[in-house]
Amino acid sequence: MKTFWMLARAALLVAVVAVVGLWLFRGPLSLKLMGRIAEHTLASDPLAALPDGLHVGLCGSGAPLPDATRAGPCTVVVAGRRMFVIDTGQGSVRNLALMNLPPARAEAVLMTHYHSDHIADLGEMMLQHWGAAAATRPMPIYGPTGLDQVVAGFEAAYQLDRGYRIAHHGPKVLPPSGFGAEVHAFAAPRGGPDVVLIDDPDLKVTAFPVDHEPVEPAVGYRFDYKGRKLVVSGDTRLSPRVEAEAQGADVLVHEALSPTLVEVQRQAALAAGRTNLAAIFHDIIGYHTTPEQAAGLAQRAHVRYLLLNHIVPAMPMRSLEGPFLGEARRIFHGPLRVGQDGDFLSMPVGSTRVDRSNRLNHWL
Ligand SMILES: [Zn+2]
Ligand SMILES: [Zn+2]
Repeated sequence: MKTFWMLARAALLVAVVAVVGLWLFRGPLSLKLMGRIAEHTLASDPLAALPDGLHVGLCGSGAPLPDATRAGPCTVVVAGRRMFVIDTGQGSVRNLALMNLPPARAEAVLMTHYHSDHIADLGEMMLQHWGAAAATRPMPIYGPTGLDQVVAGFEAAYQLDRGYRIAHHGPKVLPPSGFGAEVHAFAAPRGGPDVVLIDDPDLKVTAFPVDHEPVEPAVGYRFDYKGRKLVVSGDTRLSPRVEAEAQGADVLVHEALSPTLVEVQRQAALAAGRTNLAAIFHDIIGYHTTPEQAAGLAQRAHVRYLLLNHIVPAMPMRSLEGPFLGEARRIFHGPLRVGQDGDFLSMPVGSTRVDRSNRLNHWL
């Protein structure tokens, strides 16, 4: 018995010494760990670690209204080893890096429409494309009519920065020809035909017009990769076109606005005498889709997995998800998720699986 207590005391002493040691050397140890993480992150192609398949992530699940946990609208798509970014909302480029999906790795950016919350980070996206990979060609951007004007504005705003960076790092590190964007604008009138942007043997990317009036054009996107199918609605009120495109899709990423919760905010704005804000809360309900409508659409289209994004309004408590969804979980019988930043759904080739993970805080 005496030996047992002696051993226990010794073990306790060793543990205390170890903890104190770790505490005292926490700085140098963290530095070493940081070096390992940086080595790993910079040396490996994060896309190579994914199974062959179609993947979709939320680099921003929010909308224009401030939300501490949600960046502005941004959806990242990986098809095999090819990466695309749909919309660049506020904070989304930062999120892409934190998700270990380097913005510079994107083959192209696809825009749904030009509401401010969807274009906010476009300048940063172009900068990342240029600076992080010594690009000699501007970043390809696809989008409906109006894209030239938006890109020209961002390029003008970044002209001074362009000069500083070339002067500082030199043209070898930042080739002047890689600055800015290569514009691929297409016409997409409401009710018009599909626009096929990429039609390769394994991958087809299609844009289709949606209904976000008075914003026109506004489009959604569809990806078909080796038998797996993804549809991203973009901003739209309930749209038969989205329903048609989403028939049998493995994943539908659909925007969602809860009139019940927006009404709470509208009443608070009225009570505070902020009639202008109250009017805006009233107006936004008209050109978005409710979670219940999105659920009904997904059910009718036999979608496998429904991921809601462009969450309006901000929900300061997770417990508001129930009121936000209303009857949506009863209407749609498959898995339904209120999207969070970093959410990542994988659709491996040759299966019907949809696997969910979250790529933010990847290392914790
Ligand atoms: Zn929006
Ligand atoms: Zn919009």
